[in-house]
Amino acid sequence: MTGRHYTAIPGPSVLPDRVLAAMHRAAPDIYAPEIEAMAAGIATDLKTLAGTRGNLAMYLCNGHGTWEAMATNLFSPGDPVLLLACGTFGHGWANVLRGLGLDPQVIDFGLRSPADPEAVTKALRAAPATRAVLVTHVDTATSVRSDVAAIRAAMDAAGSDALLALDCVASLGCDEVRMDDWGVDVLLGASQKGLMTPPGMGFVWFSDKARAAGEGARLRTPYWDWTRRADPAEFWQYWFGTAPTHHLYGLRESLTMILREEGLPALWARHERLAQAVWAAVEAWGRGNPEIRLNVADPEARGRSVTSVQFGAPHAAALRDWVTAHGLTLGVGLGMGTEADPKASGWLRIAHMGHVNGHMTLGALAVIEAGLQALGIPHGQGALEAAAKVI
Ligand SMILES: *Cc1c(COP(=O)(O)O)cnc(C)c1O
Repeated sequence: MTGRHYTAIPGPSVLPDRVLAAMHRAAPDIYAPEIEAMAAGIATDLKTLAGTRGNLAMYLCNGHGTWEAMATNLFSPGDPVLLLACGTFGHGWANVLRGLGLDPQVIDFGLRSPADPEAVTKALRAAPATRAVLVTHVDTATSVRSDVAAIRAAMDAAGSDALLALDCVASLGCDEVRMDDWGVDVLLGASQKGLMTPPGMGFVWFSDKARAAGEGARLRTPYWDWTRRADPAEFWQYWFGTAPTHHLYGLRESLTMILREEGLPALWARHERLAQAVWAAVEAWGRGNPEIRLNVADPEARGRSVTSVQFGAPHAAALRDWVTAHGLTLGVGLGMGTEADPKASGWLRIAHMGHVNGHMTLGALAVIEAGLQALGIPHGQGALEAAAKVI
């Protein structure tokens, strides 16, 4: 293989050379003042990134770990919880809650639609004791994006004082996220998607209301307890043990790129544009083959970091193999099969997440176009021109 391979899967995302270079160093003394100062600066920057003045607990874990962290800090067995599912990741979160002995009420919005605020109001009126509403901002499997401010408004309309918890693993650092403005009480993120750092760090931001609501939570365990992590009296308490030293160096670099160099408005606009380029190409292909289509009809309900596309079975698998051999790896379809054949996947996912630009996204679309031609998969013309116009 020659040239640079582009792994365009929705996490782990492309690692900037600068992040890798920052991590390439000998093991540091974890009590060196430099590491301590770096951790404090990272915590401050992560709050800016999430749009909150609230609290932050950092963990050595992946996104799944943050699901367990939030639940154990907030809940006791039997607590009524409402979970809004728009794909595999919503259901995965529900399964973690079940594993902890909770019995969440799950509203399943299917695979193509965002969470419906009216359904939230109705559910909360019927179950006023609900302690928390859990929602995935962008479900990485379906690429469905839900309107968080509208969900908060729906909770208020029901007179509910439940907490709002939001999984932003796939959107943070790509899509607009405003924790405090949206009235979010608990926000979840991880290092390996928009944050452009290897998997291994998870983040839970939480409001003072969430902190108070979680006091006395009987599911709370020493390792996941967010109290000291958010407010460490000694450095080791950030991590409940050894700091994730090399991740910190990488994250320091990526946060500098995100917040100090590009800036959030430009970063959001870049992801928006790359997403629109992908949508334009898929729509053009679909004009020559109705089987090729975007999963989500309403552009407002589409994630800006990943796009789930139907190419049709058996084309999707052959296309994925073809583009892999030509330098591009796409994400597989997740949870998109039919009831009759849950494993049937005519779906692929194109990531446009993190360290990406017009060259990479246009290149990815061009390789897909070449694969459609090479494999004789019917498709409409003009996809690359349409994408180029957007860029
Ligand atoms: C990737 C992802 C997760 C899971 O993260 P892992 O690091 O794979 O455990 C959870 N939620 C969303 C929305 C994700 O995109």
